[in-house]
Amino acid sequence: MCVRVFANISAARGWHLPLLSSSFWGGQASDSARVALKLGNCVAARWKSSLIRPHVTIVATATRSQESNPSQAIFFSDAGLNRAAEMRVDKTKLSEAFDSPEALVVPLVDAKNLVKGGKSVLVEASALRLTNADHESAGFPVFLGLSNSTKAPVFAVNLEKVPSSAGEERPAWEDGGEWIDLRRYGSQLQPSDAGLLAYARGMLEWQTRNRHCGRCGGRMIAKDGGHSLHCSLDSCKHSAYPRLDPAVIMLVACGNYVLLGRQSRWNPGRYSLLAGFVEIGETFEMSVAREVKEESGIEIDQTSVSYIASQPWPFPSSLMVGFSASAKKNKCDPYSPESEDNNAVAVSPDKLIVVDELRALPQTSADELELEDARWVHKDLLRWVLKGNPLPHSVEFSIPGSYAIANIILSRWTESKREDSMWAGDDVISADIDEGVFEYVLMCLSDDKGREKLIVRGNSKLAYHSDILTAAQEEVKDMGLQVSQLGGGRIDHNVKERKLHVYSSSQAFGLANHSVTCAILRQWYPFHSITLAWG
Ligand SMILES: [Zn+2]
Repeated sequence: MCVRVFANISAARGWHLPLLSSSFWGGQASDSARVALKLGNCVAARWKSSLIRPHVTIVATATRSQESNPSQAIFFSDAGLNRAAEMRVDKTKLSEAFDSPEALVVPLVDAKNLVKGGKSVLVEASALRLTNADHESAGFPVFLGLSNSTKAPVFAVNLEKVPSSAGEERPAWEDGGEWIDLRRYGSQLQPSDAGLLAYARGMLEWQTRNRHCGRCGGRMIAKDGGHSLHCSLDSCKHSAYPRLDPAVIMLVACGNYVLLGRQSRWNPGRYSLLAGFVEIGETFEMSVAREVKEESGIEIDQTSVSYIASQPWPFPSSLMVGFSASAKKNKCDPYSPESEDNNAVAVSPDKLIVVDELRALPQTSADELELEDARWVHKDLLRWVLKGNPLPHSVEFSIPGSYAIANIILSRWTESKREDSMWAGDDVISADIDEGVFEYVLMCLSDDKGREKLIVRGNSKLAYHSDILTAAQEEVKDMGLQVSQLGGGRIDHNVKERKLHVYSSSQAFGLANHSVTCAILRQWYPFHSITLAWG
């Protein structure tokens, strides 16, 4: 998509943009470049010299095949560019590239990116050269690379301000655009656009934080197409390069449960994987173990730490490195013989189904300084949420969207080793219960191929256990699934206090294994306190 817009030159008034002279690429800004010129004079002079190009092109970044498979795309990672690092050191090539009519610029103002209609806006470099600014108050342009689709050279430029106040005119290339904080709104962009804007923002923010020499306080000058900064004082010659802050983010599993945490400032019910910055002198494995222990009190087996994926997080300069790890073996055994006694139910004379038992999981203790809560959440609930299904009655729970690496890591985990085992029963929620006091039935859901799982159903509008069984059979009939009863009882569900109590029995179906029912309820109600009584 390519939209050509004719600019109104006077609309550029009030803007302060860097003047990019050829000498700039040599690492020394010329005196003229450092002097902010009156824009009116500048524009008039350029009219006379016929250098002006009164038009801009707004170019949507190329659509790539990965967008058809967004579940695999790591957000903020793909700028759609060949970084062409060899060009950074070639002053002549850089200068020619910026002066070429194809050159495009990703503008940044006050750490905000420009988007239009949900797409990133690239401006013809020639349009920005109409105006001037002092390099000390604006940023140095950064050579980002060559567009994969058009081969056009793409740069990033830090502009001085957004003319947003009333009455102030805007340049034509900005018309209809919106300056956004990529951190807050980036998830609404296509992954390819978000990747380009993140790269531009990360580089320019690094420059902004390094305007002055960290050793002597002198002014820093850019070289290498904006990819290095050097102290302007000969007596110092300190250099600075873009730095990343590595942070680990980890999926700590114990059987079919994963350890999640939440910060108090997040929306109610929002949980995510634990994460933290790597400290000096640590390996990734050590960092994963330390952060998990600090934040949740859980000890992990360091030999179980393995890499999954990474994500640039340029807010301002993190690289999220994703790992999986297991809680220490002796503290993580949801299938222990003791729990099997209480959490197995015979679905046929020769077949037992064992349900994960939460009580066998290591006890979490959230570090109040970092997390408001840390707890184990079952794989089935996560898979349900990731599919966008409605949550069980009275459960408030969400995870970050698909733009975040936490979502990608959790998605891969919930779907791992499942290609052969997926069946229609996956789309049937295991626990579907009402609020208040009601009869319930424990049932076995199965298909013709012998695949099965346990489900719990309870409804205050259905007075008899047999009615609940009939309703469940109706629920799955069209999916080619069958339901058989494994006993019943009663549930008292106090939504306000987040309490579930399982007790009593069914005259028609007999006594259900309440501890199995409780184990299923725990998978779907991670925030409830759940108790049982026999009889
Ligand atoms: Zn210095």
